[in-house]
Amino acid sequence: MAPIKLHDKSFDTYLSEAVIQEKIRELAARINADYQGKRPLFIAILNGSFMFAADLFKHLTIDAEICFIKLASYKGMKSSGNVVTAIGLDQDLFDRDIVIVEDIVDTGKTLHDFLPKLSHQQPASLRIASLLHKPEATQFPLQIDYVGFSIPNKFVVGYGLDYDGLGRNLKEIYQLA
Ligand code: 5GP
Repeated sequence: MAPIKLHDKSFDTYLSEAVIQEKIRELAARINADYQGKRPLFIAILNGSFMFAADLFKHLTIDAEICFIKLASYKGMKSSGNVVTAIGLDQDLFDRDIVIVEDIVDTGKTLHDFLPKLSHQQPASLRIASLLHKPEATQFPLQIDYVGFSIPNKFVVGYGLDYDGLGRNLKEIYQLA
């Protein structure tokens, strides 16, 4: 397919709509098997994960709940790391089976900073589903239980992911040319 232009940059097609959708069906099948008889709560992290979360959720046949949250991070007054606040997380997570839904794990910092907040509430289990993972970019190692695609350390857009606000509407995933 022809390259696309967003703002000042060109992007080449990297993952087609069919390939993405097939992978999501596979992930959903694994989740359906793993959570048989349970009622997991999916926590989708906005903005980027909205398309992945919606498509994944459509293929779940188990009882499942979903909520969408936004993470805001700021420098803590005392701690050396960043403090992450989850906007919209009003469910009680105690004893729940939690699956975090992310668009992409790059350095791992976002989830590394956020996971302690969730663990603090003592969920029964905590797993991560990420459509994309850039293993070469890892700075904060994480166990990602459901990975769609491991990709090279190149900037990608489409299917929920943006470049400076644009590209979220694309059905395919594109890589910086
Ligand atoms: P991390 O904290 O793992 O370094 O980064 C996670 C967040 O950075 C993702 O949720 C996403 O918003 C953004 N991000 C990382 N890599 C990319 C990329 O290649 N393209 C886009 N559009 N966003 C990215």
